[in-house]
Amino acid sequence: MHQFGTGRPDQQDEKELLGFAAKIMQNSEAQRTPAFPGNRPYREYCGVPLKPVANGKCTSCGLCVKECPAGAIPLDNPKMTDKDKCISCMHCVAVCPKKARNYSKLVSFIAGLKMKKVCSGRKENKLYL
Ligand code: SF4
Ligand code: SF4
Repeated sequence: MHQFGTGRPDQQDEKELLGFAAKIMQNSEAQRTPAFPGNRPYREYCGVPLKPVANGKCTSCGLCVKECPAGAIPLDNPKMTDKDKCISCMHCVAVCPKKARNYSKLVSFIAGLKMKKVCSGRKENKLYL
């Protein structure tokens, strides 16, 4: 996934985000609901099917348990993941000193293809006020 969004945020982003911040300050008193684009009715959110678990390299050090923002890794068995709680942020994969946590290579491959289709071009910043 690292191939997508490489180099962002860049200088152009920073400039745009400063402009957004100024607009937000100007509109801080406004109470209206912005008109969001998209297809309606919204589809039910069924989660992201990327739930990392640990392999045999895990030493049960507990670091991922401590760092998981969703409390999805049980302290008594850090090789597992509570799939209902996991938000697929991949922080546990990044912090594991043994590189023990990951998810299915097949799922990763399919997700990569989907991302390539929708994320190959530059995504512009948008602000809805
Ligand atoms: S950080 Fe890695 S080695 Fe430590 S408990 Fe988690 S999966 Fe196991
Ligand atoms: S992917 Fe994120 S939410 Fe899921 S177990 Fe890892 S750190 Fe927790």
